[in-house]
Amino acid sequence: MTKKYLVFNWKMSPSSAEEALELLEVIKEAISQEARPSNPFSKIIVLPPCLYLYLMNQIINADKVLAKKITLGAQDVFWHNRWAVTGGISPKMLKNAGARYVLIGHSERQQYFKETAYMINQKIKAALVNNLIPIICVGEKEKRDVDSFLVKKCIFEQLNNNLAGIKLNAGDTFIIAYEPIWAISSHNQGQGQPESLDDINKMIGLIRFWVARRFSENIASKMPILYGGSVTGANINLFAQSSVADGVLVGRASTKKQELKKIFQKLKRTNKKFT
Ligand code: PEP
Repeated sequence: MTKKYLVFNWKMSPSSAEEALELLEVIKEAISQEARPSNPFSKIIVLPPCLYLYLMNQIINADKVLAKKITLGAQDVFWHNRWAVTGGISPKMLKNAGARYVLIGHSERQQYFKETAYMINQKIKAALVNNLIPIICVGEKEKRDVDSFLVKKCIFEQLNNNLAGIKLNAGDTFIIAYEPIWAISSHNQGQGQPESLDDINKMIGLIRFWVARRFSENIASKMPILYGGSVTGANINLFAQSSVADGVLVGRASTKKQELKKIFQKLKRTNKKFT
């Protein structure tokens, strides 16, 4: 069984470095007790606010358990290393602070920062040039029949525009997160419902088909495609058992200690089914 990605997008949480380290401690406790070798999620990627990256990287590197399982990433990046950009964070800064991954094109960045497809495309190119692994988000705004022409058109347009001019080689790692915007918890006052597994599987299949046509079947078969949107301790088992999703992107639930504990507890129980 291929191991899956468990990506935690902490968004603008927590409010202090101390609290960030407490969340890291919850993850450490969970992975120290994890039933081996059967955990379906072997790659844990944490995307904290970039203010905490440097400190978290130092702590992770100084701890064998954490260093083996956790990799850090950022939630955004600017597309130049040297430019006069007030408030900008460059790819080089992120790398030097310990990030290996970068989330690009999240719907909240489009909503609050008016990010366009052009900007997303520039960010993806900059990430690749600087050896940061992009995790790009695509997803439809409104809940519709996933077989409908409109949903397909919307996802293909996002992929076409965001990945315009991008070349990938067979060995490159590149991750796509399918995140239907309507399913993200922040769009539902924290009470969102994930998309059904059937629909997620269809959408991931559609994205993989696009990748095969645009790049190659080999790249498509290896590209991790994740699901994101209201994944919690209560429903993570569903995604752990999906043979189509290569993992999950978890927002809100990964920023609350109790919910984070629950996620790992549920996964431990799921493990029994995998052994
Ligand atoms: C996200 O916004 O990336 C996300 C997955 O959010 P949530 O899990 O809170 O729906």
